[in-house]
Amino acid sequence: MENETIVLYPSPGIGHVWSMVELAKLIQRRQPDKVSITILITNGFMDSPSLLSYLHRITLSHSSISFRRFPSISVADFLEFIRLNDPNVRQSLLEISNTSSIKALIIDFFCTSALPIAAHLQIPVYYYFTSGASALAAYLYFPTIHKQVSGSFRDLTTTDINIPSLPPLPASHMPEPILDRADPAYEAILSFCLSLPKSDGILVNSFPELETASVKAIADGLCTPDVTTPPIYYVGPLISTAIDESEAIQHKCLSWLNEQPTKSVVFLCFGSRGSFSSAQLKEIAFGLERSGHRFLWVVKQPQENKTNKQIHESKLSVDLDELMPEGFFERTKDRGLVVESWAPQVEVLNHESVGGFVTHCGWNSVLEATVAGVPMVAWPLYAEQHVNRVAMVENMKVAITVEEGDDGIVSRFELEKRVKELMDSDSEIGRRLRETIEKMKESALASSTVVDDFLNLILS
Ligand code: UDP
Repeated sequence: MENETIVLYPSPGIGHVWSMVELAKLIQRRQPDKVSITILITNGFMDSPSLLSYLHRITLSHSSISFRRFPSISVADFLEFIRLNDPNVRQSLLEISNTSSIKALIIDFFCTSALPIAAHLQIPVYYYFTSGASALAAYLYFPTIHKQVSGSFRDLTTTDINIPSLPPLPASHMPEPILDRADPAYEAILSFCLSLPKSDGILVNSFPELETASVKAIADGLCTPDVTTPPIYYVGPLISTAIDESEAIQHKCLSWLNEQPTKSVVFLCFGSRGSFSSAQLKEIAFGLERSGHRFLWVVKQPQENKTNKQIHESKLSVDLDELMPEGFFERTKDRGLVVESWAPQVEVLNHESVGGFVTHCGWNSVLEATVAGVPMVAWPLYAEQHVNRVAMVENMKVAITVEEGDDGIVSRFELEKRVKELMDSDSEIGRRLRETIEKMKESALASSTVVDDFLNLILS
């Protein structure tokens, strides 16, 4: 019998690659002998220094998963970079087809330009959507909003956008790449969104119990009023275990956590790229100090640009003494730890001393906290994180929010208040959040066989 294979194509960015690799591992677990998996990896943009050793580890531990690294391309624009890789995708699909029957190409949302290439070669194309059903609802509905609204979302300061299943969203909180209508990224994302329903189906890294309203709205066709919604498979939560284990075990924050009481520590971490101005960092420090709670805080190199809240290098060194308020370390030495750049987040969230999480609402972080049963304070920074925030706070009820002041800064008083609401033992808000997240955790851990439906379909 001819070798059967599934080809996966993640977008650049280590978070997207990790998530796609977790999907590959899930497929392998469900179909150990039947199908091999080839993962296409771009080269030259947002390459993390740990990428190659990570891919090597996966190849060694998973015999049916292999990687094809594209030739290097040097270009500064993310979407342009992906488009320039189209010939590599085509070439790879043709070469793989010489020895195997490709049962499906599974692409990241940002890799939509591969869809017509595969369709032309008569290969079924599925999306793997690395965010949740709420963000998917927003993206599926975006072509409808585009027709209703004129002007840039960024400028519509008094307009709310109504997306099926989500509370009204201020226009300026729409996903970041589509805030400016004149930005070429706007047109690109619009065409990606129009392509979602043209695929053979969408696999989503979520589970229905977490996002019931959005799952239902999508299933009822409310997000795609003009076209048929493709089949949707909720295959999550897929949680990455990508961190080099020896690095994680040795990290000083884990031994520090071992010394702290159960569920006493609030963990602050803002994704692989979230970064604040030095003024905002000082406010966070004062807010943590005022809260009186124990804290573990991951601080990245600051940047002073108010509209750009991310940096592109995730592990740059940081001069913490320079950044923190005078005397802060001395005053908080018995109950706080600040670490530079990076902490092993999954291990931290699953440590019994951690009782709350202040997060930038990146979807991997949301799922990781949910699976660990840790309630959240939602502080969105970039990408589709504001959409995730309203869903987490209003629909899933697993988080409370922090509000920025008119100067764009979250004040020390605001942070103090929210940390207390989350962590105080007599806080009714905290109690309710913990109860809800515990239920979500149980649902997340209940095994799902949705991916089998998908595999049965494509391998039949
Ligand atoms: N992460 C981590 N340590 C850090 C920062 C991030 O392990 O100090 C991991 C985190 O566990 C998650 C990923 O990086 O798996 C970030 O993904 P997410 O979708 O939350 O946010 P993004 O970085 O894509 O904005």
